[in-house]
Amino acid sequence: MEPIIRLEHVFFSYKINEQTSVPVLKDVSFKIFPGEYVAIIGHNGSGKSTLSKHLNGLLKPNSGDVWVHGLNTNDESKKREIRQAVGMVFQHPDNQIVATIVEEDVAFGLENIGVPREEMKKRIDEALSVVKMSDFRKRPPHHLSGGQKQRVAIAGVLAMHPDCIVFDEATSMLDSFGRKEVLQVMKNMNDMGMTIVTVTHRMSEAAEADRIIVVEGGQVVMDGSPREIFQHKDQLTELQLDVPSVSQIAEIIHKQFPNFSNDLIQEDELVSEVVRLGRNTGGNKAEQSQATSH
Ligand code: ADP
Repeated sequence: MEPIIRLEHVFFSYKINEQTSVPVLKDVSFKIFPGEYVAIIGHNGSGKSTLSKHLNGLLKPNSGDVWVHGLNTNDESKKREIRQAVGMVFQHPDNQIVATIVEEDVAFGLENIGVPREEMKKRIDEALSVVKMSDFRKRPPHHLSGGQKQRVAIAGVLAMHPDCIVFDEATSMLDSFGRKEVLQVMKNMNDMGMTIVTVTHRMSEAAEADRIIVVEGGQVVMDGSPREIFQHKDQLTELQLDVPSVSQIAEIIHKQFPNFSNDLIQEDELVSEVVRLGRNTGGNKAEQSQATSH
């Protein structure tokens, strides 16, 4: 299968002035394939955001290459195609809202690329329906909650029919309710086949992905499934990263009950394992009391 995005030996520094530059990305290479749900994690300042801005050419490597559908992000003539293929949702919902009515906001990008009226209407209906904001289409966005605004921003990106959406800490300014709403939208879109890349410092959100890329000092230091990554608790602690609370609770119970699985990452897995443990230990007690009554 052809990757949607391919990074090859990417190096990047921010140029502060003629004399000074801050090196950030150091030899980063990976591929993102169609339909993947990838979380990029790393502690503050590790280079996650800089990396995510390379995925659709917002930033360009000093050396090395980023390819989107085989198009090089250094090729200015392909900029529009690349930006259309890989959409971005950022941290602050307010900075992404440009119009005074929700549906006009979703229409903004479509107008810029000259999508015909009828097609535009269809795309706005679809996008608002996916993010569950159809009932708000005539509302002014500044009356909406943070989570709702972020969903409108996502609809604007979605209406452009990208192949992949990159979320750069898109839930970090939201309350827990707004976060859940946006996470659910990400999951639903991935279920519908959309490729999702999410930059996050929340381990519980990374646990929802099917692949995690760990960044440290501008380099990829781990790349694997959440279950693989969260088994390396010591290495994550060294990188100043937590494991999700579900994994921590599982580890504590595992120390008391070695049969209790310690590689759990999802809440429902934890619940099932607790029920299984309860049945087993309950069963043992019942057997013991039967044995003593005879
Ligand atoms: P993260 O998203 O993991 O917090 P960033 O990519 O935002 O990391 O930042 C990585 C490094 O690059 C940090 O040392 C940060 O201070 C520096 N940096 C980020 N943006 C800029 C900028 N516009 N100019 C100069 N340095 C920057």
